[in-house]
Amino acid sequence: MSPNPDSTPNSNSNSNPNPNPSSVPLLPTPKRLTLGTGRTRIGREIVLTLDPVFGELAGIVRSELEHLGVKTIREAAGASNASDASDASNAPNAVSLSVLGRGEMPEPIERELSGQDYPEQSYALLSEAGRLTVYALDRKGALNGIATVHQLIEGASGGEIPDLSIVDGPDIERRIVSPTLTWYAGFARAGFGTQLWDGDRWRVFVDWCFRHKINALNVVMYGFWPFEFPEYSDTTLRDLRMETWSPEIGDWVEVRFTHPNLRKPFLEDLIRYANERGIEVYAYIGMNSYSGGYPVVHPESRSVLSPELVAAGHVNNYDSLCTSREDVRRYLIASVRRIEEIGFDGLVFEESEEVQWFCQCSECQRKYGHLPPNEAKHSVTVELLEEYAKALKPETLIGIRWLREPPIVKDRERLAAWNARLPSRAKLFWAPGLEDDDREFLKWVDVFGPERIWSRNCEGSGFAASLGRIPYLIPDTFPEELRNYAFQHLWNDIAQFQGAVNTKCAAINGYGFEWYGHELYFMATAQFGWDCWRFDRDGFLAHASRHLHGEENGARYERLIRSVPCIHETQICPTLPSFPFMPNKYVGPEGLAYLERSAEAAERALRELDEMERAGLGNAVRRENAEATRIMVRRMKEAAEAGIAFNRFLAERDGEGDRGRMKRHADEALRHAEEDYRIVKEHYFDTKAHDWTGVPIGEYYIPMVVNEYRKTFAASLGDEYAPDDSVPYMVGGESLPWEWLLEWGPKIAAAKPLAAARPNAAPAGTPAGRSEAP
Ligand SMILES: [Zn+2]
Repeated sequence: MSPNPDSTPNSNSNSNPNPNPSSVPLLPTPKRLTLGTGRTRIGREIVLTLDPVFGELAGIVRSELEHLGVKTIREAAGASNASDASDASNAPNAVSLSVLGRGEMPEPIERELSGQDYPEQSYALLSEAGRLTVYALDRKGALNGIATVHQLIEGASGGEIPDLSIVDGPDIERRIVSPTLTWYAGFARAGFGTQLWDGDRWRVFVDWCFRHKINALNVVMYGFWPFEFPEYSDTTLRDLRMETWSPEIGDWVEVRFTHPNLRKPFLEDLIRYANERGIEVYAYIGMNSYSGGYPVVHPESRSVLSPELVAAGHVNNYDSLCTSREDVRRYLIASVRRIEEIGFDGLVFEESEEVQWFCQCSECQRKYGHLPPNEAKHSVTVELLEEYAKALKPETLIGIRWLREPPIVKDRERLAAWNARLPSRAKLFWAPGLEDDDREFLKWVDVFGPERIWSRNCEGSGFAASLGRIPYLIPDTFPEELRNYAFQHLWNDIAQFQGAVNTKCAAINGYGFEWYGHELYFMATAQFGWDCWRFDRDGFLAHASRHLHGEENGARYERLIRSVPCIHETQICPTLPSFPFMPNKYVGPEGLAYLERSAEAAERALRELDEMERAGLGNAVRRENAEATRIMVRRMKEAAEAGIAFNRFLAERDGEGDRGRMKRHADEALRHAEEDYRIVKEHYFDTKAHDWTGVPIGEYYIPMVVNEYRKTFAASLGDEYAPDDSVPYMVGGESLPWEWLLEWGPKIAAAKPLAAARPNAAPAGTPAGRSEAP
């Protein structure tokens, strides 16, 4: 087997990483790898020797090996607390694994590790003649070496790993992903995906992050708090009334949802578990919007809209709290203290996305009334961060996502003024993406300093989540007119990661709002923060697909991802409002032709998934990826078919107007739209639109599509197709404040990733320090 197939000389990562057919490629790829000729067979037992300086890692090494079905049979002093340790003489042929520190390290290796960009995270790994040795200067490096050992053994072909030598370390200090623990919970939604996980499942995810060298999680908690909060117990996500679909009876049933961490608390243990593995955990929460359940339980505490603003159509859709209120300040301070008490290593705040108005209460007007709404918002941010900095321990990280509103290109002096007002310990968890050919990002790097920039506008999987869990991955299948609005996707995330690494920012942070079927986003953070220049985006997709699914199925998965259509249901209905990032409608001859191609592509993708299943999916991550992908693809097929039939109805109505044919097309459109909704309802827990906040909101617009279709059909075919007046009409949910993207979309879509340009770089796929197999 070849653990890093891309290390063979002259391989071309742009088109094909050329892996050995029986291998699972490492991800992230190691910086320098040299393959030998021999092989080591990994049996059921490994003799473990830990340098006493790494004694505390014994439990982690043991559990990593046990996960692979390998038992540890001896541990050296400093780590000999294993009660099941038996004598190595019982297994004279067992492979040995040693994890050694500075004192036990050959001088040339120590020199090489010290020369890495981040020596404390770097490691060397030697595998030869039945002996595996990890060398590291620090426990962080030792953990990274152990993670590579895990990937090597897990991917071992025929139970054998090749002789090899690796010297490895990251390209950026922190590689962060942002998964969701709650997301608008109790406001617009109840929970989906990772938000339904209990502690055991979260541990599996932390293990995945550890094995992929992700070293921080920025865990989203939007909405009712998913933790016990005795002082404000009514703001926690307990007994939330909601409806979920029951396939058994084919109807909705009312249930009460309590967040898994409130049923059986796991957060404190999980954070400790992650910390032990070198992973920091931050809480990513609203600054003063969606901050626990307070705005719902105490609606009088929300920001106030003047009658004029209400008359102009504004709503407090973002449920921001009025920060001039004493009770609100007390509550917010108590909240951040409580979060720190749970054990989070930091708090990252996001400003409300409202860009058009600021609280109109008399006190806010007195304090901020002279400022434009966004300037008022940023002033409050500075005030609150100063208070939080006093309330939190000095070592607790404080992050902020702010200044995200238009104009995208900001005045340098304004940015410098905000930089000066921001408390010195606060880090930026948002900086521009590719806007303005990255020139705005480079301006931020200059003004704020790269050490202060921990994240950019990398929201690819956030788009997938807000669009109802569609396969929003790469824009390659989008029609030309949509490409102008598609800029938060995997390709864009990758270009931003490269720009951040190139400008020496402190961290990259990729959204991980969707796990199921969106693992590529997580793998991109892992790869481009570690071995950033190994692949261009196509090389990455090829490699990551094989890392996830193995050689044979990986090739199928790659083909699937490159061709699977991505359609949001509002796009097959001309009378529904659009998302600003999916504004085009598939109607008329061109739209119809696109939908027909999409239906065929979805059909082909389903056949690829069938083939993958026949070949065998293997581990749980592969199975859940394939299952989630199948659900998405089936949806895309039904959405395309519904749109095709609707287009045919319109053509018949506007042409010959044959009533029989019109009825057939109408029935066909409704059948596919209903099937689309059935797939969603039966596979996802939380699919009904919510309107208890006063603004109907949800991820799934299919009931509205059905109703709009019915209106159209009823006008020609009569009451048989009458719409259902009880279906709530949604206006675009949290995408409302992003209308300005319509103007900027084409510019961003055409933006060049200037920040990622490396003047003296080798061509893509042949980075300096690239290894060669003997
Ligand atoms: Zn106010």
